Amino acid sequence: MSEAQGLELLHLAKHFGGVQAVRDVSFGVQPGECVALIGPNGAGKSTTFACIAGQHAPSAGQVLWRGQALGDMSAARRLQCGIARTFQVAQTFEALTVLQNVQLLLPGASPLNPLRVLDRQARQPALELLARVGLQEQADLGALQLPYGAKKRLELAMALAGLTSGPGLLLLDEPAAGLAASERGALMQLVRALAQGAAGAERLSVLYTEHNMDAVFGVADRVLVLMEGRIAASGTAQEVAVNPLVLSRYLGQGFHHAGGNGNA
Ligand code: ADP
Ligand code: MG
Repeated sequence: MSEAQGLELLHLAKHFGGVQAVRDVSFGVQPGECVALIGPNGAGKSTTFACIAGQHAPSAGQVLWRGQALGDMSAARRLQCGIARTFQVAQTFEALTVLQNVQLLLPGASPLNPLRVLDRQARQPALELLARVGLQEQADLGALQLPYGAKKRLELAMALAGLTSGPGLLLLDEPAAGLAASERGALMQLVRALAQGAAGAERLSVLYTEHNMDAVFGVADRVLVLMEGRIAASGTAQEVAVNPLVLSRYLGQGFHHAGGNGNA
């Protein structure tokens, strides 16, 4: 067995008919790292995620996890191997409580007989996950009652519930989409803390997409800029924000980030 850790993409490509959504994309994400994949709409961010999480089969190239090529492994099996994702629009079970939403995704729960399992399932592991995302006090509320920002946090706890096999990979597709500016910063700091394994929790590899530079300053250790399916630039947020190609083709020449550090 290889000792390689984390995620590695090697020359990943995905075509839909004539549309080349992802072309020759290579990068890695190690445990403890928080990496942002940014770029304009249609750049191929969600498609890259779908190839990593197993919703799409790559047209070419490879996805390696802990040194092993995943090939045609299903999304469900990838989750068992430590690869969890969230979607651009928060997906929670509205008829259940906040706690039950997490309990349902803990190992041992069966979607075929959910209510019996929820009664039996220990509350404690689910409460610990809610505490990690700052939702412990809302455990017994109905998911329907949560404001959208809290729902995005619940979705993070649900993704974490599936990660049981060592340092996992958390794929977050626009985790702060739809949030007010005031909530975005706090959510992105939570994402960073999850990567770093705050409060004694295990470190994670975190890869998130964004189409907004504001969500990368003070959050991402490394930023990859995807344009027309290719990595057009990579580096720190400060580095990519002054990259001439990124400025001319994506951010605009007038782009200037006010804060620079810890602003997100
Ligand atoms: P992003 O997430 O960066 O906005 P996407 O990965 O969603 O970009 O899309 C990249 C390109 O692939 C776009 O041109 C999009 O229209 C196309 N695309 C994405 N998914 C599909 C699909 N299932 N079928 C056909 N074309 C798709
Ligand atoms: Mg997308």
